[in-house]
Amino acid sequence: VFCSFEGGDGVGKSTQIELLAEWLREHGVEVLATREPGGTELGLELRAAVLHGGHVSARTEALLYATDRAHHVDTVVRPALERGAVVLTDRYLDSSVAYQGDGRELGAAEVEALSLWATEGLLPHLTVLLDLDPAVGLARLAGRSARPDRLESAGLEFHHRARRAFLERADADPARWLVLDASRPVAELAAAVRARVAPLTGV
Ligand code: C5P
Repeated sequence: VFCSFEGGDGVGKSTQIELLAEWLREHGVEVLATREPGGTELGLELRAAVLHGGHVSARTEALLYATDRAHHVDTVVRPALERGAVVLTDRYLDSSVAYQGDGRELGAAEVEALSLWATEGLLPHLTVLLDLDPAVGLARLAGRSARPDRLESAGLEFHHRARRAFLERADADPARWLVLDASRPVAELAAAVRARVAPLTGV
């Protein structure tokens, strides 16, 4: 079972992944928790290049994310799924569609096609969207990181476009998506995620 967690910066994706992983492991399920960009060694180099390197064009950025994703799927995600693990990823292809497709205005359809090519069409069974006003998420992060990356310091309008893109994608495919209001208490969100994951994993 493959689950991705999506949403803006500072919405609490990593907290929810940790809580879900802990719960699944308590029930004897093998869990692999990973992230994009940077779920592999090559991915960490790509992450540093795209987030902290010099300016790159929107197309270069999209290709760097696609490269990270292709390698992540080949070497981490697919092998884990093949041995029966539940894979939880902090961001996946919907981030590219939202940030490079809509945020950077490269076009959602083109960026989605690029990602599907990079992953040979691997889609999550479930995508949890933690939805939050970008101003709130970025304010949460401001207290946390000393060095804002290129994206966090991009204009608020960029983050609003990405938020709208996530919501539209979720709306169009409710079978794959679970949309949660990320301003709700952490424990309530975790319970809602577990309720949706339980039937998928047989826990
Ligand atoms: O979620 P994480 O902190 O790993 O993401 C790092 C940054 O990369 C975030 O600012 C996020 O908005 C951005 N990002 C992006 N396009 C992607 C994935 C992440 O712009 N495909």
